[in-house]
Amino acid sequence: MKCHRHDANEAIGVCSHCGRALCRDCGPSAPAAALSCSSACAENAMQLTTAIQLLLKRSEQNARASAIYCYLSAALSGGSAIAAWFWLPSAFLMVFAGGSALVLTAAGFWHGRVARKSVTGQKSLKPLSP
Ligand SMILES: [Zn+2]
Ligand SMILES: [Zn+2]
Repeated sequence: MKCHRHDANEAIGVCSHCGRALCRDCGPSAPAAALSCSSACAENAMQLTTAIQLLLKRSEQNARASAIYCYLSAALSGGSAIAAWFWLPSAFLMVFAGGSALVLTAAGFWHGRVARKSVTGQKSLKPLSP
């Protein structure tokens, strides 16, 4: 792969934002993961990273809501399994609904753990109260 700007040079990496091939003369001596073809791309890549970090932080805050949602869906699937047992004795439906209930319960448990983790993380920043 050749550099997009210098045809003679072999590319050592790609821009982390637009994916253009870059050679040693182009990018600054940054690690390959953080290469960028221009300051605009570097800024955009940085903004993207910040956005992802913000999203991750938000998803942590939403983990509790997700846990509740998962438990609700699990209850609904469990209800379907029971309903299938009564009205439609189909082994497939019961296994399917029961399996979904189990998976959703596990997902709810996992989200709940993430929520608890982030809460304890926030608490550890403050001085402990008796
Ligand atoms: Zn670029
Ligand atoms: Zn180049």
